[in-house]
Amino acid sequence: MLLKLEEVTKRFGGLIAVNSVSLEIDEGEKVGIVGPNGSGKTTLYNLISGVYIPDGGRIFFEDREITNLPPHERTKLGIARTFQVPRPFGSASVRENVAIGAMFGRANASVDEALEMADRYLEMVGIYDLREKEAKLLTPLEKKLMELARALAMKPKLLLLDELLAGMNPQDINRILDLINKVKEEENIATIAMVEHLMHAITKFAERVVVMHQGAKLIEGPTMEVLNHPKVIEVYLGEKLK
Ligand code: ADP
Ligand code: MG
Repeated sequence: MLLKLEEVTKRFGGLIAVNSVSLEIDEGEKVGIVGPNGSGKTTLYNLISGVYIPDGGRIFFEDREITNLPPHERTKLGIARTFQVPRPFGSASVRENVAIGAMFGRANASVDEALEMADRYLEMVGIYDLREKEAKLLTPLEKKLMELARALAMKPKLLLLDELLAGMNPQDINRILDLINKVKEEENIATIAMVEHLMHAITKFAERVVVMHQGAKLIEGPTMEVLNHPKVIEVYLGEKLK
């Protein structure tokens, strides 16, 4: 077992953002996490990556308890994530932003190695030409690609993508999905969990899907089975499916 959540809960004042969620992710899995806006997906990522400490429950990574571990230590263990709203080091270059991932992730690279790795991953995601630019000058799409490069440069065992594909055109979506699949094979990234609202992206990518609803896990299982389940269709009624 790569990742295990045991009845994890996170409250914000009176609001229960994540309500006693148990979840297991195996090595090698490609998992989709879906659910309406506000259902707790990003909070779940924040709990796994250590941005928040849960109010209840426990989290394990490779059988080691990480419930209270700070984010940078989880990064070193091999947990990388992208942010729904990217926050780059604005005045640093794109290349430096990605190199920081290589230096502080599991890769633990020296500065020279990190810059080399940055070039390689920037090439891979298709923004090598922008590497000398200040990160804050990138378009939102370019910032997302830079985030993906930074996360990959960490050499994660578990990669958590938070709405990476939102706002991209179908052509870019397909390119990134192909890239992620290729990277998973070539870089030996054990697992990728992806939060997306784009159902066709989820069906193309995920082998298994977890559906969140009002902070709780509504259902999980093989992708098509789950997405066609009456409970899931009910939750998404009134939500615009793309
Ligand atoms: P999703 O990513 O599925 O859209 P979130 O995890 O962002 O959902 O949010 C789940 C719930 O928790 C929402 O009601 C949201 O408003 C609330 N929430 C998330 N983060 C915070 C925060 N830092 N402070 C207060 N409420 C929050
Ligand atoms: Mg979210």
